[in-house]
Amino acid sequence: MAVTMDNYNLDSFYINGKWQQAKSTRSTLDLINPANADTIGRLALGNAEDVDNAVMAAKSAFTTFQATSKAQRLDYLEKILAGYKSRYDDFAEAIRLEMGAPITLSREVQAYTGIEHLESTIAALKAFDLTQTKSGYSLHHEPVGVCGLITPWNWPISQLVAKVAPAIAAGCTMVVKPSEFSPLSAQLFADVIDQAALPPGVFNLVNGEGPVVGAAISQHPDIDMVSFTGSTRAGIAVAQAAATHVKRVCQELGGKSPMILTEGIDLETVVPECVWLCMENTGQSCNAGTRLLVPESLHDEVVEIAKKAAESYMVGDPADEATQLGPLANRGQFEKVTSILQEAETAGLQPITGGSGPVAGCSEGYFIKPTIFANLNRDQFIAKEEVFGPVLAIMPYKTPEEAIEIANATQYGLSAYIYAKDNATAEPIAQQMRCGMVHINSAPLVAEAPFGGYKQSGNGREWGLLGLHEFLEVKAVMKVS
Ligand code: NAD
Repeated sequence: MAVTMDNYNLDSFYINGKWQQAKSTRSTLDLINPANADTIGRLALGNAEDVDNAVMAAKSAFTTFQATSKAQRLDYLEKILAGYKSRYDDFAEAIRLEMGAPITLSREVQAYTGIEHLESTIAALKAFDLTQTKSGYSLHHEPVGVCGLITPWNWPISQLVAKVAPAIAAGCTMVVKPSEFSPLSAQLFADVIDQAALPPGVFNLVNGEGPVVGAAISQHPDIDMVSFTGSTRAGIAVAQAAATHVKRVCQELGGKSPMILTEGIDLETVVPECVWLCMENTGQSCNAGTRLLVPESLHDEVVEIAKKAAESYMVGDPADEATQLGPLANRGQFEKVTSILQEAETAGLQPITGGSGPVAGCSEGYFIKPTIFANLNRDQFIAKEEVFGPVLAIMPYKTPEEAIEIANATQYGLSAYIYAKDNATAEPIAQQMRCGMVHINSAPLVAEAPFGGYKQSGNGREWGLLGLHEFLEVKAVMKVS
C-alpha cells in the first residue's frame, strides 16, 4: 500500500532502536510542497538534548558494534538493501513531495542512487582486507567511532545513504541529521534500518535546524567524526565547531563546475547535453555544469542551440510523468535564485532565455524559468558564484590555455566536463583541471569512483572504497616475529 503523510512520525526521532517523541514539542517547522506551496505536515525540530540522547545511544552501541565481523556488517547491509528495494516507490514519491523532483527523475535517478551506494559499499567492503600483514607490522582498519552525518535537501537519499552505508560497513555508530526541508525520505530510510534489525543505537536520527541540531552534533565531545554535505558556508561552521575536540571532518560542499567545449565536436548533440547538465534537478546539484566555456568562434552558434534546448523543457507539476523540470526545493532557495536574477537584470544583464519572471501556469509553487546568460566574463557574479538554480553561464574563450585558466578560476573545484573530438585531445585538459572529478565526452558518474572536490568544494571523498576509508581509522601494530 502506498505511503501517505499519516505514515510519517514527524513529531518523533529514531533513537536507540525506536521512535521517540521530541524533547521540545514547541519548536516545529511546516513542511511545504514546493510544487504548490501547500503545507503537508509539521516537523518537530530537535534540540541539544535530543542530540545528547542520540549520542549516548550511539556511544553505548559502539562498544559492541565496533567488534562486529565483516560478515555481520555485510549481512546488515544486504538486509538494508533488500528493505530499500521493497520500499522503492515510496522513496521516489517521498523525494518528489519533499523537494519537488519530477517523478521520473525521482524514480529513475534520485531513488536509484540509494541502491547504487548500498551495492557499491557492499562490494568495497567485500573486496577490502580490514587487517593486512606487512613487513614488521600489521595494519588494522578500525571504525572511527560515533559519527555525526549532516545532509542537505537536493539529493536527499543519495547523500544520506552515501554516508550511512560506509559508516555501517566500517563498524561505526551514528547520529543522522537530514535537512529539515527533506525529512520524509530520511524517515523511510530509518524504517528500513528498523526492519533490518540493526542493534539499537547504531543508527539514530534527529531532525532539526542546522544552527541548533547540526551545531550540537558538530560540537559534541562524544562524536568522533562529522561527515557533512551542504553549503560551503555551513561546512566552514561545522569544521570550526568540530576543531575544539579535534574531530575528523569530511566535507562535500558547493561547486561551479565548468564544461569546456573544444573545436571539432558535434554541437547539435553536445550543447543540449550541456544545458541538461546544468538544468537537471532544477539546477540543484553540487556537481552541475553551470559554466559553458566555448571557443569564441563558436559562441553564437552555441547560444542558438542552447536557447532552443532550454526552451524545449516541460516545466511544471512534479507529479506529471511528462515534467522535466520541477520547482526549486523550498521558498528560501526560490527567493535566493530570484534575487540573483533580478540583481543581474537590474545591472543590465539580459538573459538570452528565461529570467526572473513567473513561469506560465505555475504561479503557486517555487518555479523558475530555465535561464541562460551568454557572452559573460569570468568576473561576473553569475559566472563565478554558485546559484543553485536552473541558470547557465556561457563564456567565450580565445585559446585552450585561456579555457583552462577560466575553468580553474573559482573558489570551487568539484567537477569538470570536457568535450573534444577524442580522448587524446581531452586528457591533457583533464590533467590540468583543479577538481575532484572530470567527465570526458559524456562519460557518466561511476558509483565506485570517489566523489568529492578540491579547494572550497570540500576535503572528503565519498562512494566506493575511498568512501569506506573516510569512516576507518588505521592502527599499525609493530611486532617482532
Ligand atoms: P546548507 O548548508 O544550508 O544545509 C545542509 C545541511 O547542513 C542541512 O542539514 C542544514 O540543516 C545543516 N546546517 C546548516 N547550517 C549548519 C550549521 N551552522 N551547523 C551544522 N549544520 C548546519 O545547504 P543546503 O541549502 O541544504 O544545500 C545546498 C548546498 O549544498 C549547495 O551549496 C550545494 O552545492 C551543496 N551540496 C554539495 C554537495 C557535494 O557533495 N559537494 C552535495 C549536495 C549539495
